[in-house]
Amino acid sequence: MNSHRALLLVVVLIVAAVACTSDGGGDELGPDSTTTAAPQTTVDDTTTTTTVPETTVDDSTTTEAPQTTVDDTTTTTTVPEDSRPQEGPDDGVPDGLVTPTGVPVAVLGPTDSGYLVRTPCGNTAEVSKGVWINGAEVVIDPGHGGPVDTGAVGPNGLIERDLNLTLGLAVIEELTSRGISAVSTRTGGYPTLLSVRSLLADDLGVEALVSIHHNAPTWATSTFPGSEVFIQSESVSLARADSARLGGLLYEEITAALATFDNVSWSRSASAGVLRVLSSRGTDAYGMIVRPEVPTALVEYGYLSNPSEAALFATDEYIEVAAGATADAIDAYLHTERPGTGFVQRPRIYDPQRAPSFCEDPALE
Ligand SMILES: [Zn+2]
Repeated sequence: MNSHRALLLVVVLIVAAVACTSDGGGDELGPDSTTTAAPQTTVDDTTTTTTVPETTVDDSTTTEAPQTTVDDTTTTTTVPEDSRPQEGPDDGVPDGLVTPTGVPVAVLGPTDSGYLVRTPCGNTAEVSKGVWINGAEVVIDPGHGGPVDTGAVGPNGLIERDLNLTLGLAVIEELTSRGISAVSTRTGGYPTLLSVRSLLADDLGVEALVSIHHNAPTWATSTFPGSEVFIQSESVSLARADSARLGGLLYEEITAALATFDNVSWSRSASAGVLRVLSSRGTDAYGMIVRPEVPTALVEYGYLSNPSEAALFATDEYIEVAAGATADAIDAYLHTERPGTGFVQRPRIYDPQRAPSFCEDPALE
């Protein structure tokens, strides 16, 4: 092994070791657009009914039949054309846009010929057009992105950055099929800052933000999945109630679904469950937990560093089962009072290292 290759290997290992904390990276732009902005239709439905009963009763012994006149006029006018263009500038400003290259971005304001947006790398840029995003119920955040911030890498070569994206887009597809509107923080392999991911969720005012990750390094083997769900703090001593319920439902549905897979040798930490991870300063340690104002949970589905789990994660069946379980949990969070399970009371203390910061914006149009 020459020194160049040895150096590269060291860099890769460092990146893999800081799997869930980074802010950087830049890569190609994927084709998937995951936002559906409902076209606005103005319907002017005017119905006018006028009834004028004329009744004349003669006081004599002669009875005349009462005269009744009904003037029944019904007018319906329908204006089916979209009165607010989906493409090009307008007086109105949407919360967000999916740019022509498929990148979801928060809109900061209008410009003379388009929109000022926050790019994945945290810059401002002008975009002339795009599909409007006006609110959504859920934001899904496929963790990591770009050539530097790959996240964990499995012994089978499966890269967490790509696995998270595949699963995240499958979750959005499943939510959409249930009538739940959902937007992804990224739609390709490009990097996206944690602050930009958080801004998108807060800007859209969603009811839940779920960040998708796969863990490393491997712990002792277990007969039950070692999924971990990190939730937000209300204070130093308390979890936020809405984040905790979201996390508890995710843990319950995901571990139950993964446990149905046969012949998997799981790995699991002794403190696995739904928990808060605090820095030594006493605040939420992870950027994707401490930054968003909307209720947020970060899911580590399992251990990509474990060969048995990595083999499972590479299958279409895993994506289908994990996406269905995630959608079940989000559906229950939005539409039931179920509390969730798996809560670990004692916070874990952890000071994440910052990954190398590198970010190159993808083309927006
Ligand atoms: Zn991760």
